[in-house]
This record gives sequence, structure tokens and C-alpha cells, in this order.
Amino acid sequence: MITDSAFIRTTRQLWKLVAALLCPIILGLAVIYQEVFGEGIAAFQDTLIPLTVIAFVGFAWGCLSITCPRCHCRLLSETVSQHSFLSWVRWFISFTECPKCHFSPIHGGKAR
Ligand SMILES: [Zn+2]
Repeated sequence: MITDSAFIRTTRQLWKLVAALLCPIILGLAVIYQEVFGEGIAAFQDTLIPLTVIAFVGFAWGCLSITCPRCHCRLLSETVSQHSFLSWVRWFISFTECPKCHFSPIHGGKAR
């Protein structure tokens, strides 16, 4: 659960995370839907390639645009590269200060 003190919320970048994650999630749901209820992935190829491109572009945009206001560290990119696949989302929605410069928006923008 995202706390009120989470860095991503206090820096007003939560919408960027939602948008970046929504693209791959929509791709995954579309593939599952087509495989289970549709005619299989083979009949889905014309749509699959554009959806895959949109998913990658959306996530890449999130990696580039979610930054620390002070040091401009690319927070999503750093997090994905330093945490395991299953743990990075949980860490990313709960950290309260920049891992690079220790900027903390809930403490008046001053590092502790
Ligand atoms: Zn920083």
C-alpha cells in the first residue's frame, strides 16, 4: 500500500508510475484474453506488435521521467536495476527519501 509519506506520492509522480505500469499490464491482459477467450496469439499478431511497442515505450518513459527533484536521479530505472523482480514495486511505492542524495520531501526538502 502506498503511504502518505511515500516519495513517489509526496513528489506528485504517482501518476507517472501508474501510467508506466499500465502499459505492460494492458499488454499482458490483452494476451491472456486473446489466448483464453479469443482465437489464440497467432490471430492476434497484427495487434500484438503495436501493443508490445506501446508497453516498452510506456515503461521506458516511466524510467526516464520519474526523477528526484533535487539530484534528477532516474528513480524507477535505478530501482528496477537494483531490486529483484518481485520486490522492486513494493520498495518503490514505500521509500521516503532519494536513495542517491537522501532528499526527503516530507522533511521540508532537507536531507536528514
Ligand atoms: Zn536525489
